[in-house]
Amino acid sequence: MYYSLYIHVPFCQGGKCDYCAFYSLGASTPELRHRYLNRLEGEFSEHSAACAPLRSIFLGGGTPSALASGELTRLFSSVRRHFTLAPDCEWTMEANPDSLTSEKLLAALEGGMNRLSLGVQSFQPHLRQRLGRRGNLEALPELVALARRHGLKHLNLDLIYNIPGQRISEWQSDLGNALDLAPDHLSCYSLTFEENTPLARRLVPDDDDAFFLQCWQHNDDVLAAHGLPRYEISNFAAPVNRCRHNWEIWHGQTYLGCGPAAVSFDGKDRPANPANLASWLAHAPPVHDRLPPHARQREIFAFAFRTVDGWPWGLLETTLGLSRAMVQDQPAIQDLCRTGLLVLDGAGIRPTRRGLLFNDEVLCALL
Ligand code: SF4
Repeated sequence: MYYSLYIHVPFCQGGKCDYCAFYSLGASTPELRHRYLNRLEGEFSEHSAACAPLRSIFLGGGTPSALASGELTRLFSSVRRHFTLAPDCEWTMEANPDSLTSEKLLAALEGGMNRLSLGVQSFQPHLRQRLGRRGNLEALPELVALARRHGLKHLNLDLIYNIPGQRISEWQSDLGNALDLAPDHLSCYSLTFEENTPLARRLVPDDDDAFFLQCWQHNDDVLAAHGLPRYEISNFAAPVNRCRHNWEIWHGQTYLGCGPAAVSFDGKDRPANPANLASWLAHAPPVHDRLPPHARQREIFAFAFRTVDGWPWGLLETTLGLSRAMVQDQPAIQDLCRTGLLVLDGAGIRPTRRGLLFNDEVLCALL
């Protein structure tokens, strides 16, 4: 049974950004988008019976705002036709401020979107250029104001830091500009150089851990003071505004993925749709990632240590059937507690500040 739905929109507008490794096409035609929506509806029909009332829907990509307003209306109503939504279903749409017109924004709000995630990345034109980030932010303040006027409940802004050559004052200014828009949620990603991207061919990562640590500390201090404490490696929000979709995925919840490159998880298997629009349109089958139950359990257990809560004991018991007694005597857990990466107490088991910072070490020890 799936509790969440992810929909991958494989289009962007005006080309691809230099750092991006997500599957998407930099241009599309109305005809191609029509075929995409037809096939997507086929996928909805095929799988909707396996879905419980949805607790969250995430429309990502790619760039959902690369769809025309009429296409967005069609997509939203198609989701409503095929699935039952829980009364408090969180419905996120990612958008690029450059391609999100007021008409598209209103179509999404009318369709049921209640969480908007805007890809800002940087407010500084020269850093956007260094990243090879397409588009501009001219429309951003008016879009945010319009969304709020029409009752948008949750606003997230995506930012990128640790860009080669970036100064701390520039990152501080980016955070300040973001906070001026009064978001409920911020995602701050340290730049990663994904293989085979134009960015990885053009720039060399700074080996300056000191700069990364300075930004990390600044994020903790400034965002907590503005009511947005860190709750995951790259995510900041008050508990009530955490992204439910991602939080549940980090804790092993099941989800259905539709669209090319979308991955599903049924508790055992992670089938991935082909990361190729033509193959997906031609009904190429997903690639399966089946693990023995014990390995899958370990994977789910380890993944939650991305979050500050880790595993509260009650949730660990209901999700994985593991009790405190079954966990606390494991040598790997004892080592991680001894080295100060995890902490275990009456509430649960969770990462320390260092454990979040060195999440790779936690994963390495547990997987
Ligand atoms: S808009 Fe987003 S999905 Fe599209 S190329 Fe840029 S980073 Fe990638």
